[in-house]
Amino acid sequence: NQDEEKLTEYLDELEFLAFTAGATVQKRFTQKLTQPDSKTFIGSGKAIEIKEYVKENEIGTVIFDDELSPSQLKNLEREMEVKILDRTNLILDIFAQRAQTSYARTQVELAQYQYLLPRLTRMWTHLERQKGGIGMRGPGETEIETDRRIIRDRITLLKEKLKTIDKQMATQRNNRGKVVRAALVGYTNVGKSTLMNSISKSEVFAENKLFATLDTTVRKVVIGNLPFLLTDTVGFIRKLPTQLVESFKSTLDEVREADLLIHVVDISHESFEDHIESVNHILMEINAHQKPMIMIFNKIDDFSYEKKDEDDLTPSTRKNISLEEWKKTWMGKSKYPTVFISALTKENFPEMKKMIYDEVMKIHISRFPYND
Ligand code: GDP
Repeated sequence: NQDEEKLTEYLDELEFLAFTAGATVQKRFTQKLTQPDSKTFIGSGKAIEIKEYVKENEIGTVIFDDELSPSQLKNLEREMEVKILDRTNLILDIFAQRAQTSYARTQVELAQYQYLLPRLTRMWTHLERQKGGIGMRGPGETEIETDRRIIRDRITLLKEKLKTIDKQMATQRNNRGKVVRAALVGYTNVGKSTLMNSISKSEVFAENKLFATLDTTVRKVVIGNLPFLLTDTVGFIRKLPTQLVESFKSTLDEVREADLLIHVVDISHESFEDHIESVNHILMEINAHQKPMIMIFNKIDDFSYEKKDEDDLTPSTRKNISLEEWKKTWMGKSKYPTVFISALTKENFPEMKKMIYDEVMKIHISRFPYND
């Protein structure tokens, strides 16, 4: 039952990703297997079931919530006679759609080519049949239709280009001197940009879609005469494609080189505990997990619950728990300073600002020990 709940949440997220990419989901299919089929990921019976549904309802694309191997993709496409997207391709497509600066575009392009290279044969036949649409943005069609060698050259070139920009950005970071640097981290869509806007009074793009932010924005913020730099970073997500983690090095360097991490959590989301885990996992991967951190639980204005059983306080029944009870349970005892806010209504902003001020001040003092 708990597994089924998880599954629903995962597919909810996938549907939200699909929506962000511009697709409408008609139907969900699930299958329990001890391990994915090496040839077609799902079993052959399930594949036929999906194929029939696709035919009957004139569905354009089938999306899988996992990364498929190049041969799985090819086999599925051949068998089902429909465009197949996997989770990685979907996320890459959203990134391609949202990349604003030439730096972000370069990063996404690199990640897309790396994804494309082992799947080139598929893309060939694929593009003959069906041009454009989701999963096709980014590298131009004529470029895809050239051979592997040209794509490899392009990858080398993009890597060099990124290396140059990475160096420039590293210099920029060094030139920011000894001002304390705080970075907003968190799962995608938790409200980081909204918070950034309200703390720094700037206009950062916020939207109820995944990955509104791809480029880092750095703002100077002053709380109680204490200036520091605040960075908004790309949102994290479960199973973030490895190609992206690699090519978004500079963006993640902002996190790696920050003095203080401000971990924003969307407490109104039913999977928020999973989100915290995913974020911590990525922080560990980029070796940024031992930094001072503040936990900000956002969207308390949207926290709703139905109380059913007085004694039931286990995580699986968290929908029955009021915010006050949450604060009293493990979240209140978090090893990091913790605050509950709404970035929208600005509830508890004074408390949050005081918390940020205290943490920034601690770092500031450790840096300038002789100042009064
Ligand atoms: P980001 O991806 O983490 O930068 O998230 P955004 O700042 O783009 O916000 C994602 C969505 O959540 C937007 O639709 C915001 O308006 C909404 N949002 C942000 N903060 C709050 C909040 O405190 N309460 C509610 N109800 N919605 C919020």
